[in-house]
Amino acid sequence: MRILLVEDDRMIAEGVRKALRTDGFAVDWVQDGEAALTAVGGEPYDLMLLDLGLPKRDGLDVLKSLRARGNAVPVLIVTARDAVADRVKGLDAGADDYLVKPFDLDELGARMRALIRRHVGRGESLVRHGGLTLDPVGHQVTLDGAPIALSAREFALLEALMARPGAVLSKSQLEEKIYGWGEEIGSNTVEVYIHSLRKKLGADLIRNVRGLGYMVAKDA
Ligand code: CA
Repeated sequence: MRILLVEDDRMIAEGVRKALRTDGFAVDWVQDGEAALTAVGGEPYDLMLLDLGLPKRDGLDVLKSLRARGNAVPVLIVTARDAVADRVKGLDAGADDYLVKPFDLDELGARMRALIRRHVGRGESLVRHGGLTLDPVGHQVTLDGAPIALSAREFALLEALMARPGAVLSKSQLEEKIYGWGEEIGSNTVEVYIHSLRKKLGADLIRNVRGLGYMVAKDA
């Protein structure tokens, strides 16, 4: 899942980015409101983490422009402003949820996953496909009830494919799900992760659609 982090406090941003990457999110980081609007215009994000007090354009302004353009990306406001009035303004301007600094990084991850789930219309947290179950909250995968150990990136890749059974995702779409800006991408890493997932989960789960990309079939 690809996240846009909008935060001008370098220390907070570094901490959040590190924690989310460990959690398997691909994180792009911008430090002001204008950069945030430019970034969301160019990339399909699964969620935006938005600070309110920002240089150039403040968070509320960013949020209003975003919704005025019809962009429905889930937005989680993360801010030091804990006044009720600010919270209400944020939600009224189209934010999906609200977290007040300082916050717990585990709570942040859990709320993000809940928003993303709601956005794609899955109330239930577990994603199932045949004997395979993926738990986005607990970051666990089981096959016929037995736990399967996956790396953070293998998990992110599998999650992207299982979120839309029957949809073909290209190699670059998959790379977007697992890498943030500035992260080194090797020439064949998606293939390597797919190969590893097939070894762990069976050769039939992830299909190669020649010249187009990869998919998990609709019928399990
Ligand atoms: Ca700030």
